[in-house]
Amino acid sequence: FPADKIRNFCIIAHIDHGKSTLADRLLEMTGAIAKTEKNKQVLDKLQVERERGITVKAQTASLFYSHQGEQYLLNLIDTPGHVDFSYEVSRSISACQGVLLIVDANQGIQAQTVANFYLAFEAQLTIIPILNKIDLKNADPKRVESQIEKVFDIPRDDCIRISAKHGTNVEMVLQAVVNRIPPPAVSSDDPFRALVFDSNFDHYRGVVANIAVFGGRVRKGDKIVSAHLGKTYEVNEIGLLRPDEHPTQRLYAGQVGYIIAGMKDVKEAQIGDTLYLQEQPVKALPGFKPAKAMVFAGMYPMDQSEYPGLRSAIERLTLNDSSVTVQKDSSLALGAGWRLGFLGLLHMEVFNQRLEQEYNASVIVTAPTVPYKAVLSSAKLIKEHGSEEITIVNPAQFPDRSVVSEYLEPMVLGTILAPDAYTGKIMALCSNRRAIQKNMVYIDDQRVMMKYLFPLNEIVVDFYDLLKSLSSGYASFDYENAGYQAADLIKMDILLNGRSVEELITIVHRDRAYNTGKAMLQLMENYGGDITRKMKLLKRQAEGKKKMRRIGNVEVPKDAFINVLKRK
Ligand code: GDP
Ligand code: MG
Repeated sequence: FPADKIRNFCIIAHIDHGKSTLADRLLEMTGAIAKTEKNKQVLDKLQVERERGITVKAQTASLFYSHQGEQYLLNLIDTPGHVDFSYEVSRSISACQGVLLIVDANQGIQAQTVANFYLAFEAQLTIIPILNKIDLKNADPKRVESQIEKVFDIPRDDCIRISAKHGTNVEMVLQAVVNRIPPPAVSSDDPFRALVFDSNFDHYRGVVANIAVFGGRVRKGDKIVSAHLGKTYEVNEIGLLRPDEHPTQRLYAGQVGYIIAGMKDVKEAQIGDTLYLQEQPVKALPGFKPAKAMVFAGMYPMDQSEYPGLRSAIERLTLNDSSVTVQKDSSLALGAGWRLGFLGLLHMEVFNQRLEQEYNASVIVTAPTVPYKAVLSSAKLIKEHGSEEITIVNPAQFPDRSVVSEYLEPMVLGTILAPDAYTGKIMALCSNRRAIQKNMVYIDDQRVMMKYLFPLNEIVVDFYDLLKSLSSGYASFDYENAGYQAADLIKMDILLNGRSVEELITIVHRDRAYNTGKAMLQLMENYGGDITRKMKLLKRQAEGKKKMRRIGNVEVPKDAFINVLKRK
């Protein structure tokens, strides 16, 4: 395929606006898959994805499309839609020249629409706005078109109105991909250079990396190098994704496909990394960032006898997800376990759900914490840590104020979209969470978009649930990382019968210490009240002993303890 007949694009949308349904239609219309009911959302492969209707691992497909007597190769690069994976979205986007920005013609622009739009806009891609679900009775495409004009400064005439469900006007989408999106500006005569935008682990073949070729060509047997680690590999197999793997002899500049080269771990094919030929070294593509965990939680087996099983399940899952960090941890009450780091909350929930569903593991997960930083003032400690600034992921290791000149906490810039009737309640919730309003605009006569700077810690536990319930489900929320800010943080101990319990140590802002502490004690007390009688019975039985945990010099029912750890 000559590069001028190639189009690389992705679909971005707020959750449920119809990304997967449109992808299915595009695949059917180009003959990549047959039109059957069974093929619903073929690109969403994991069980949790089907259940939650979200994409966790991106899937990619090359489509053949003929238009006005010409054959085109259209590479549809799927992206994980959620904010937790925004780095991966940005890498997928950087392999494209254009995006289809889908907006539900009934719901209008939502928080993720805005976040995804900016990723594409900053990458200077051609943006094709698509209004989906025009078959719905309440669809109001005119109103949504003016939102698009107002918020994104895109002329309303650029919008394509479709029903992905019924296939209405989907042909126009394919034509717009060919006519509006430029071909990749690449040459097969350049040295080989490819971007890794996704990778998966396969037990038989090792790592299967999805790549976009930015220059030159690659063949089976070539020796390639990954820029980040500098390791050399021999190419065993390459091919196109349609969406199943179709091995080919070569991959050329402008094409998108997969490569298998004897990598044993997804950490060897990190998203955003560059591959090149050993004999023709080139500069790495810009934008590579190793994944950074922003939410941490302890994980323990329900019973210590399940430890080996849980360990192998965690090992298997992390084989496929290089963004999860794993450290051994242990707790007096819960025994041996791990402290895991995730990109965000959804990432953590999806990981837990996969552990339970795919590996049948029962796990205790503690309430999530965020990585704090401390600027040390003690010369001795600075020497010990090798730097002035340290990151603290375990609250028990929070350094004392006497050796610290400043504490820092991670911040995020949040976007909230909601009907204006809820503005007052939302503002109260945000100010209660120490957030600072940055901006507020009407996107039409009834809907408001607000931007707030939040401490990440204030939104990791229940913010989203509260926002949803106080807005009857109408508010949407998305955020991006916004660096660190100084904060008056303290370490809060909880004493049981006069002794501090390590598992309950919490880092809080001074202003929130009283309420947080009170809430945690109340959780324990409520639980205690309910089951005092049952506990007395349990104590007399051997089985009951197992359900009690000795913490310091107090026995606490394991369930009560777990609930406090989970803040539930
Ligand atoms: P995604 O989260 O963006 O991938 O959204 P999906 O493609 O999974 O669609 C979310 C829901 O909207 C599903 O129940 C779809 O059947 C439905 N849906 C998608 N497109 C249309 C459409 O054009 N019309 C109607 N009525 N429903 C649609
Ligand atoms: Mg989907």
